[in-house]
Amino acid sequence: MNKLTILVVEDDVPVRNLITTTLEAHEYRYITAENGKSAIMETASHNPEIILLDLGLPDIDGVEVIASIRRWSNVPIIVISARSEDADKISALDAGADDYLTKPFSVEELLARLRVTQRRLALIQNNSMQQAVFINGALRIDYVSGCAFLNEEELHLTPIEYKLLCLLAKNTGKVLTHKYITQNVWGSSWENDVVSLRVFMATLRKKLEKNPDSPQYIQTHIGIGYRMVKVEEKE
Ligand code: CA
Repeated sequence: MNKLTILVVEDDVPVRNLITTTLEAHEYRYITAENGKSAIMETASHNPEIILLDLGLPDIDGVEVIASIRRWSNVPIIVISARSEDADKISALDAGADDYLTKPFSVEELLARLRVTQRRLALIQNNSMQQAVFINGALRIDYVSGCAFLNEEELHLTPIEYKLLCLLAKNTGKVLTHKYITQNVWGSSWENDVVSLRVFMATLRKKLEKNPDSPQYIQTHIGIGYRMVKVEEKE
């Protein structure tokens, strides 16, 4: 039932084969590209629903590929990077990537990222990002009145906590970097803002999460940023 077309951009043949074999086994359609230039061309000509993009490509840097695609497309992009490249992941996310996978990754991790991205796609297609009310599990944000509720009980948030929550909600499924969040909440991204962000995130979580030590709504990506996850409905 997947039937999505995924563009796999990877110059490393064994990794590419692992990915395409996995996609095939799970009924995804796919096309492949071995370098940045053909990635951009394939995106333009085939309109894939999701792009899996290796950052270390032989011709153009993966971050440039993202920037180039983002000029005309919002297609979700999951970057694949080597463990040592934390700074690269951050630049990729800041350039407009949605998520990342770290090499070496398992088939289960790959499939999990694809599911997260598919849920994000569904949200985008339902246009619920533009609606006046945001609902995710027991969380409800009423953008018009500027109030947030958990199990229909109002959360008493400070203006910054509310701004943070809305920013994460509007980007559900997407990993937001510290820089992106602080720029959107404070209008700057000094070292101090990142420290404040941690403090506000902790207070927000205390109000939002039943168990702040194993958060349900907001994931921490250590050294990178945060993401609001779509809470799974009972399946
Ligand atoms: Ca590579």
